[in-house]
Amino acid sequence: MKTAGMKTHRESADPWDVVVVGAGPTGLLLAGELAAQGLRVAVLERDLERDPTPKGNGIVGRASVELAKRGVFAGTDFKAIRPPRFQFGPIPLRLGLWPASPLHILPIPQRRLEELLERRAVQRGADLRRGHVVLGIQQTESRVEAEVLGGDRPHRMLARYVLRASLHRVLGADLPFTDATAMRTTVGNSRIASTYRAGRVLLAGDAAHIFNTGGSSLNAGLLDALELASHLTAALRGGSPEDIDAYEKARRPAGLRTLSHTRVQAALSRDDGNATALREIMGHLVATRGAARRLAGLIENP
Ligand SMILES: Cc1cc2nc3c(=O)[nH]c(=O)nc-3n(C[C@H](O)[C@H](O)[C@H](O)COP(=O)(O)OP(=O)(O)OC[C@H]3O[C@@H](n4cnc5c(N)ncnc54)[C@H](O)[C@@H]3O)c2cc1C
Repeated sequence: MKTAGMKTHRESADPWDVVVVGAGPTGLLLAGELAAQGLRVAVLERDLERDPTPKGNGIVGRASVELAKRGVFAGTDFKAIRPPRFQFGPIPLRLGLWPASPLHILPIPQRRLEELLERRAVQRGADLRRGHVVLGIQQTESRVEAEVLGGDRPHRMLARYVLRASLHRVLGADLPFTDATAMRTTVGNSRIASTYRAGRVLLAGDAAHIFNTGGSSLNAGLLDALELASHLTAALRGGSPEDIDAYEKARRPAGLRTLSHTRVQAALSRDDGNATALREIMGHLVATRGAARRLAGLIENP
């Protein structure tokens, strides 16, 4: 999509507190949390309609409990439960009966979760704009400016902070990262950004990490959003931009841990002699409930 030759208009001199790029589960949860604190939040989503592709079919781990506590599932039948069994790649984990099982799951189609998060964000005052593509982001010490194509003309939106909850379409040369390759450590299909923050531009969810097995991606993104919401709120409520460093300090090590255990699950699932031997030995090791519970602890906290 080209804007060359078109006149770009600046929306308003009054900046948004936060502009969120991407109305996936990560961006929508963050927007709802910030709007509930009275912050001015806009969510820009390139698609006019929610993507109908079936994706995740449940929330696994602590995110399910945190979302339930916040009333995301109020008025629905969705509930977090503690399964007595789960899988670590191909290895079954016997976790013990409720209430002892350390793992929470909440079966819900991702599309339905997105509907609930969207409704909550909008009810709390977030301004969701579908059909708005962010083409580039530039920042100064005190502001970020997003170049947006959507509505009736190309325009620029000013914000104090921008969350990139989507990676692909905003990788212009003007981004504050050197380039896409340097930004990410790539391991097979899994990858993690080398930093979750560049000045006033933040990464969360799939924009920050992709895990190729274990159903951890959605869950890690939801925990990113919750952690980031509290630090952004502090920074915007009279704190300093440095308050936000705590976000990366908490969430990038968690991302690296998740990258490791999803790689282990991928290695265990391979179709070769080494993986068969690995499965046999690991299967014996995790037959004890203590070991199974420790692995479940990793899945609980992606
Ligand atoms: C087929 C499939 C099955 C999956 N199954 C599982 C599973 O079982 N368990 C699990 O945990 N995860 C699963 N995932 C991964 C999970 O869907 C993602 O981790 C999750 O959607 C990430 O949420 P997000 O909000 O970070 O990003 P996304 O959901 O990708 O949302 C990003 C949004 O940004 C928008 N966007 C992109 N570029 C721009 C731009 N320049 N301007 C404006 N908007 C833009 C996109 O349209 C999109 O709506 C699956 C994914 C797929 C594709």
